[in-house]
Amino acid sequence: MKIWHSEAHQEHNNLSRAQNPHNMECPERVSIILAELQSRGLTNIVAPDTFSLEAILRVHDADYVTFLETVHQDWCAEGNSGELLPDYSHGAARGAVPRELYDRIIYYTLTAETTISAGTYSAARASADIALSGITEIYNGAPYGFALCRPPGHHAPFDQFGGFCYFNNAAVAAYHALKLGADRVAVLDIDYHHGNGTQTILEAEPNIFFASLHADTRYAYPYILGRSEEIGIGAAEGTMQNYPMPDYTGDDVWREALRSALERIRNYDPDIVLISLGVDTFIGDPISNFRLESDDYLHYGAMIAGLGKPTLFVMEGGYNLEYIGINVANVLEGFLQD
Ligand SMILES: [Zn+2]
Repeated sequence: MKIWHSEAHQEHNNLSRAQNPHNMECPERVSIILAELQSRGLTNIVAPDTFSLEAILRVHDADYVTFLETVHQDWCAEGNSGELLPDYSHGAARGAVPRELYDRIIYYTLTAETTISAGTYSAARASADIALSGITEIYNGAPYGFALCRPPGHHAPFDQFGGFCYFNNAAVAAYHALKLGADRVAVLDIDYHHGNGTQTILEAEPNIFFASLHADTRYAYPYILGRSEEIGIGAAEGTMQNYPMPDYTGDDVWREALRSALERIRNYDPDIVLISLGVDTFIGDPISNFRLESDDYLHYGAMIAGLGKPTLFVMEGGYNLEYIGINVANVLEGFLQD
């Protein structure tokens, strides 16, 4: 299995974890996953190609992209230093873009736990390039691959950052597959948290099916969207399925939701399947409360392989540093052994 990886993510480092202990999205996540993959013989690790902004601008607002590129420098020019951590968020409501820098920062903030450092923009671009490299190769005939993206992407909607996400890597890759010539793509999000950004980007797109397995957003981040009644809008009605699950969900309930989502995807008959792969469903995850165990991930990988579709795994969340590598490698190994 080819694994796309870039060291650019190292420059996106949440040094403010002391003041913001909820931010567990650290560079070590990637190095631990890489080490585990290599220890299991998954050593085909390659650098991504560099893509123009065109692919990102298919799903993100141009002013928002410019904001991400320039905000840290502008903020430092006003006498600040270190990492930018928004004081509060604007939430999902939109309106006119404010002129003042601090107001613009809030406007583009979906939720206020996500920092911007000097290397965030280049890391986010490299992360999107990783997903784009993967999807290009899958479109061109590779049967599977793993886009080791960091920062993750599934919380980022059209023009906001939050939930440790800046560019929605999975949505960018899905639209790129359509641009290349795919007729239909499916995105299956198995992160603990609902892929609110992916949903809002895809909810009116009939050629991309979106399914998400996640903690019920009435009590879990991102606290918006993710209800089972949300099934797509307009021509895309029926191309979306959410599986909200209660506190302390274990393998039995989660596996049944996965089985159902895979059946929906099988019926949709996509050319390519993208898996938004989060392993914060793990019983030992520090910011989540599902109860999936390491061995369970082997079965999930095998179930996904059962679709028999060209598949790109795109890395999202997972914060238990002792087990993140084991759990990710188990999904991939289960997939390969099917
Ligand atoms: Zn998550």
